[in-house]
Formats: sequence, structure tokens, C-alpha cells
Amino acid sequence: MVNTLEALAMVGREEWGKMLHTGWPASPNWMPVYHTPSFLVVHHTVTSNQWQPLAAVQAIWRYHALTQGWGDIRYHYLIGQDGVIYEGRWRGQQPVNIYVEGGQTMTSNTHKVGLTLLGQFEPSAANPPPAEPTPAALEALVKLLGAICFDLELDPLGKALHPLEGKTYPIISGHRDHYRTLCPGRNLYNLLPDIRQQVAAEIQRLQEQEPPEPEPPPIPSPPATSQIALEPREAQVAWGKSVWPNLLWGDDDLYVGAWGDAVYYSLIEFTLPEKIRGGVITGLELSLTGQDDVYLRETEGTFQAVLLEAPLRGGTTTTVPFEQLRQATAIANFLPPLSAGNLKPGTENKLSVDPAGLDKVNLAAAGGVLAIRLEGPSSGRRLFAWDSGYGEGGLLKKPVLTLQYQ
Ligand SMILES: [Zn+2]
Repeated sequence: MVNTLEALAMVGREEWGKMLHTGWPASPNWMPVYHTPSFLVVHHTVTSNQWQPLAAVQAIWRYHALTQGWGDIRYHYLIGQDGVIYEGRWRGQQPVNIYVEGGQTMTSNTHKVGLTLLGQFEPSAANPPPAEPTPAALEALVKLLGAICFDLELDPLGKALHPLEGKTYPIISGHRDHYRTLCPGRNLYNLLPDIRQQVAAEIQRLQEQEPPEPEPPPIPSPPATSQIALEPREAQVAWGKSVWPNLLWGDDDLYVGAWGDAVYYSLIEFTLPEKIRGGVITGLELSLTGQDDVYLRETEGTFQAVLLEAPLRGGTTTTVPFEQLRQATAIANFLPPLSAGNLKPGTENKLSVDPAGLDKVNLAAAGGVLAIRLEGPSSGRRLFAWDSGYGEGGLLKKPVLTLQYQ
């Protein structure tokens, strides 16, 4: 339940009552009776329009609480000619919809809130001399009625049946609607239809002011995907070794497959930049550009690209012994098989990782190096070769690893 009234500026009891003495601030002689209001009743105080509002409020309290012996002021709210609102009857710390009964509409006060303008607004009465309510006081009255109606969800233009009295009153009414009295004076009473309309407009304004439903937290946007192309580590092409004992090749050539009785494995290692190690790799493509067909023989069968658990090259130029490369632990066969279809000679062949293999890629990447072993058929005359500097027809292009990462 909203509490618009609380936000409305007004002079509290403590403030205007601190100059008083006897019986303050409690109202021991007036036991509180609680109720939920259905009617807002407008009065005038029949005090001089010339009277300074604060002094008038204090005087009314003295008259009600002490002279009459009621123990407290009988109105719930009082409004000065200057538009200042004063808290009236003691209420205590109650929920917004709970009021303490006042004493302003003889003889029944339950379900009613009494609001009064300081002054005398009945033209037929001569003492004190009648006046018109000031625009400031009327504006404050509209604000006050609006806040209470808004908080209690009362219709300012409506009427309701009083549950105990059996009579129907306007929700916003004058004292004379409830009792045989001139209060709140014709000059104020005649304004009530217009005041009700203004209160309705005030409620409309308050509704539009109500804080909108909190927006759902924004769906975090996925981190931006970046891409980087890596060339293999220095001395990029470690390679396999012939099955011939003790025969070792080692330059920047990269062979995969078999040639005669020899079998070739190749190792390509990529050092990952820091920014990738801290993130997540979401895509991987290995680009292999082969030499011309001199080196690609009888491509029946397939080659494989295998992701190794750990890098093998201790330094940048170390040649890895064939047995070490062959026995290295593979954690995934993560690229499509390399066949004649996707490994054409003289062409840049791009091999993309299957998304299912990305977990393994990220696992291996945690070590800062991606080590890929290329392997091929171990017999026959099948060979795929990369050579960065070997004669005519070479594409002179190193393998390239392209990574998407977040
Ligand atoms: Zn009255």
C-alpha cells in the first residue's frame, strides 16, 4: 500500500505542540478508537480569518483538549490560510489505512477523517466576519484529499453507504452533509463539487507519478567475440621421422603421410596470447595450404588432425623425436578428416572445428599452447607436404590457426 500522505509536507504535532504544556503530546483522556476511513469530511474552524495559523491551531488544541476536556484536538488535519497543513488528532504509528477516530461530526465519527480550513466561511454568520477560502488553502486541501483518497483507494467523485449510520454520503463531503450545522460554511461548501474534480485530477497525477514496475534486469549481452589468426610457433613445423632408424629430417618442411617405407607425422604448435587464455574459445579453424600436386600423392585415405594434451616442443627450434610425437597423448580428433575432398593441393584448405570439440580445445588451451598432430596413412604412397621454401610451385604459406574467442 502506498503512503502518499507521508510525503506531503505538513507541520507535525511535535512541531506545533512543543510550545504547549499540559497534556502534551499524548491524549490520555481520549482513548484511541481505530478505524479505516471511508469518508473525508471538510470543516471550517469558525476562527478569525486574520488569526495567525500556528496560533490558531494551538488555541484550538487548548480549547478542545483542555477547556472542553476532550484530551486532544478533534480534527485530523488543519489547513492555514497560507496553505500550510497541520497534523491534528494524535494517530501514533499506524498503517496508512488506519486512523484514530476524531470528534468533528457529532455524533458519529467512525470511518471519517476530519479536515478543516482555518477560518469562517459562512456568509450568514457575522462573527467572526466571513471570508472566502484562500487559493493557497484550497490548493492544500486538494493535495491532502488527493493523497488520502489515493492511499485509501477512495473515489473522490463517489458516494458510499455508511455501514453503521445507514446513510449515504459523498466520499468527500461537508460537515453539513452529516449533521445539522452550517459548517464548513457556504463559501467553502459550494466549492466542494469543483474540489472533488480537482482531487480526481490530483489522483490521476499521482497515479502517473507512481514509480513504474521495476524493469527486469537487463539480459547480459554475450561478451563480444574477437578473432585472431595465429601462425605456428617459431620453427613451426616439427615433423615426424622416417621409420628408417636414426634418420631424421628437420627443417621447415611439414609432411604428413607416407612415402615409400617412411611415415610422417607433423606437429604444429600455436602459442596462445594471454587474452585468449583468460577467455573462451568459441571457434577454431585451421588453414592448411599445401604445395602443388608433386607432393600430394594418391589421396585415397584420410589424414587426421589430433589435438594433443600438452605441447611437445621444449623450445622454439627443438625437433621432436618421432617416437615422442607418435606416443603423445591425444585428447581429441577435433577436425574433420583431411581427405582429397578438403585437402586439395595448391589450395588454402580451411578446416573448422566441430562445436562439440570446443570443450577439448579450451581444455588444451588452458596450458597456453595448442599442439596439433597431423597424421596420415602409414603405408602406400600418400603424402601431403607444406614447404615454406622448397622449390617451384610452393605456396609459401604457413599453416594458420584462426580462433574466435570471448
Ligand atoms: Zn465542522
